[in-house]
Amino acid sequence: MSNTKQQEGKAKLPYEQTHEYKKLTKKIQFKTEELQRFYYDILGVEKYPLEKITEMLNDGKHIYSNLSTHYYHSRENEMKDYMRRFAMYQKYIEKKGYSHDRDNAMARVISLNRFNLDYGNLYLHIYAFIPAIELLGSEEQVKYWVPLANDFKITGSYAQTELGHGSDVQGLQTSATYDVNTKEIVFNSPTIESTKFWPGGLGKSSTHAVVYAQLISQGKKHGVHAFIIQIRDLQTHKPLQGIEVGDVGSKIALVHNDNGYLRFNNFRVAKSCHLSKYVDLSDDGTVTEKVKDSTRLVYGGMLKLRVNIVKII
Ligand SMILES: Cc1cc2nc3c(=O)[nH]c(=O)nc-3n(C[C@H](O)[C@H](O)[C@H](O)COP(=O)(O)OP(=O)(O)OC[C@H]3O[C@@H](n4cnc5c(N)ncnc54)[C@H](O)[C@@H]3O)c2cc1C
Repeated sequence: MSNTKQQEGKAKLPYEQTHEYKKLTKKIQFKTEELQRFYYDILGVEKYPLEKITEMLNDGKHIYSNLSTHYYHSRENEMKDYMRRFAMYQKYIEKKGYSHDRDNAMARVISLNRFNLDYGNLYLHIYAFIPAIELLGSEEQVKYWVPLANDFKITGSYAQTELGHGSDVQGLQTSATYDVNTKEIVFNSPTIESTKFWPGGLGKSSTHAVVYAQLISQGKKHGVHAFIIQIRDLQTHKPLQGIEVGDVGSKIALVHNDNGYLRFNNFRVAKSCHLSKYVDLSDDGTVTEKVKDSTRLVYGGMLKLRVNIVKII
């Protein structure tokens, strides 16, 4: 039986009842079912068949929110509403036995998207923070951090971009200086341009961040490296001493995402924060590449995130 026939007589999905949807579908000159089928085919029907997505949407109606009713919400309410619905969504997919299937990121985004839950303050946690640890962390680091993040015991942001350095990642100025006496890394934001700016989920929500900074050890610069850093207290949620963090303010779009800024003032973290799958920082401060051109691999985190965004478009 065709999917169209299968769906006939079924209750309409929430988005199908909106004024905008009805208006749009009246104007459309082509068969929407065919487009829909094509759309889901390229996502991998065997894993996420249309019937399963439709079933999810019907079962999870309580999570869905019609955004046309949000026009007059305050930003605070938008963020609270997002978090409330994300928590419901999380419980729902756990109960259903679905996973955060990041290997098939598109399928997951589609489901977040369908519930109007895309690009909120936990988007980066799932699509940039955890993947960056998986990509750049040693086996031991992945084993320690990823379960904490998957269980939402910590939530993370991805802090690469600075006010003065976006595409020019090599030019980042946040410094990470290894102190051989204490076996700690000291983070500093030496200039205004070095202020981390834009990272999603950073302004108010995240307890941790993967931070990109220039590693300095034995008095030498070693290029941009990635570090996992706790930025807020897990009980009080207040920024730790030496951290200045906040929200970049109102935006036209993505109001439910607390894109943030971050500055360091002699902020000390144990050496183990250095993500060391491809490059090692030894106790005496020697930096050894485990693979050739390891610093290029550091850019993989953002690359993965952007590839996902291109796939969505
Ligand atoms: C909504 C939003 C969310 C974001 N979230 C995050 C996040 O979670 N984490 C994070 O780290 N960052 C984040 N960013 C930052 C984003 O990654 C940067 O904006 C991006 O890397 C571009 O940097 P930039 O804005 O400084 O622009 P620039 O690098 O200054 O670029 C400006 C323009 O110049 C062009 N350009 C730059 N260099 C060259 C060149 N060499 N040759 C030719 N043209 C060039 C660019 O294509 C662009 O059109 C976010 C940004 C936005 C807008």
